[in-house]
Amino acid sequence: MKHITNWYPKAKSAITLTEEYYKLIQAELNLTPENILVATSICSDDINMIEYPDIARKTLGPFVMGGLNGFPFAGLTGLGAFAGHVPINGAVSILYGPHIGVSQTGELGKVLRVGHTETSNCCGACALAVKNATNDLDYQQNTLEQLLLKSESRIKNATSHLKEATEVIFEAIDERIRLLVSKTKFSSRYVILYGVIIINSEAEYGAYCEVRNIDILDTETGVLRKIVV
Ligand SMILES: [Zn+2]
Repeated sequence: MKHITNWYPKAKSAITLTEEYYKLIQAELNLTPENILVATSICSDDINMIEYPDIARKTLGPFVMGGLNGFPFAGLTGLGAFAGHVPINGAVSILYGPHIGVSQTGELGKVLRVGHTETSNCCGACALAVKNATNDLDYQQNTLEQLLLKSESRIKNATSHLKEATEVIFEAIDERIRLLVSKTKFSSRYVILYGVIIINSEAEYGAYCEVRNIDILDTETGVLRKIVV
């Protein structure tokens, strides 16, 4: 935990945050998890599925929009299909963001996976994109690399290239999610945008998140309300 807060001072455990999140949504919109359809745009890495908190399983979904490191590769077609599944008196919650490992020894971008004796990259796709190894058969990976290339000097000048690359990817996911939402018609009144950085650690410590935003969009009035956390 100390290693995680060194890099991400506002990080909390995924379980704590999820509980706080659904309490907040209940207070703001008077909706329980059973009335919320969740879409996720997080990395397809199995570590994120293993560490998905139980309380979140009371919600409907998730509809999976994310590919490598959480970029919403399912696009407008994916979100459009999802928008039609929303309970009319409920809300949509879109959880999105990249992930990054912190090992037991405090190494950023590494994690010891279950059944392994040595740490491996987390997010592996992000680490590879920072190294910039392109392959024509690798559409999602190429997209991540193009994203990072646009912010090459910002990443190279940062103390941790991987941490800065994770921030760049967060901003790209956030921008893309907002664009997709603006072009999609939802059957529910509310769409909640829940942006986080997911921090994975060893299985015994569980996952952590640092919240970047919780915004509630009222689809009837078009008003976007930023909820401070
Ligand atoms: Zn990943």
